Amino acid sequence: MIIAERKPMNEITGFIEGKAKILVVGCRGCVTVCNAGGAKEVEILASLLRLGAEKEGRGLHADELTLERQCDPEYVEELSQLMDGRYGAVLSMACPIGPQYLARRYPEARVFPALNTSFLGGALAHGVWSEFCQACGDCVIHLFGGFCPISRCAKSLLNGPCGGSEGGKCEVSKETDCVWQLIVDKITADGTLDAFMAMDLVKDWRTSRDGGPRRIVRQELLR
Ligand code: SF4
Ligand code: SF4
Repeated sequence: MIIAERKPMNEITGFIEGKAKILVVGCRGCVTVCNAGGAKEVEILASLLRLGAEKEGRGLHADELTLERQCDPEYVEELSQLMDGRYGAVLSMACPIGPQYLARRYPEARVFPALNTSFLGGALAHGVWSEFCQACGDCVIHLFGGFCPISRCAKSLLNGPCGGSEGGKCEVSKETDCVWQLIVDKITADGTLDAFMAMDLVKDWRTSRDGGPRRIVRQELLR
């Protein structure tokens, strides 16, 4: 999933400076799962902004709404009744796809991103997420025992470990598993080490470097 976190409050308050009425919009997708932009986080951010404004002796009306997904025109449409110019700012608590959809659908609205998107990843423990994929467009993890050296090796090494690993940890951070240790352990355990050693890997990077926004068209879903 997409892992994101809320922007610093001073950046967000800068977005809404001078605005009397704002809308904070959450998303029930990835950012809800990683506790960054779901209904709960929308409520917290709206409350913090109201309190901050109150402390400064000015009024702030902050409405809250959480869409099923902000990366889907069907759900973005649900805001159409509200987008009549009543809000000075719309804070999107989705990954950056959300604010881009909002900005396109509602050209007169001032839309701001309230989150920073960090990476594609998963949870390691409660409150801890790690990167698992850089969306290279040509997945090769089956060649590496099911692990991704592009995203999980600090040096994105494809041809073997750097030699700095110690106790199974990466030399760049002792808190991070050396993915090459994981790869070697796995291909030793599943009996594919010899095949791996004989492999001559050439990674096709064209899918991730085609010079523009990548696009997937699933013909069978087109009407
Ligand atoms: S090989 Fe590419 S698509 Fe597969 S996990 Fe790694 S970065 Fe993601
Ligand atoms: S220690 Fe392992 S994960 Fe870290 S940079 Fe070297 S090979 Fe990559």
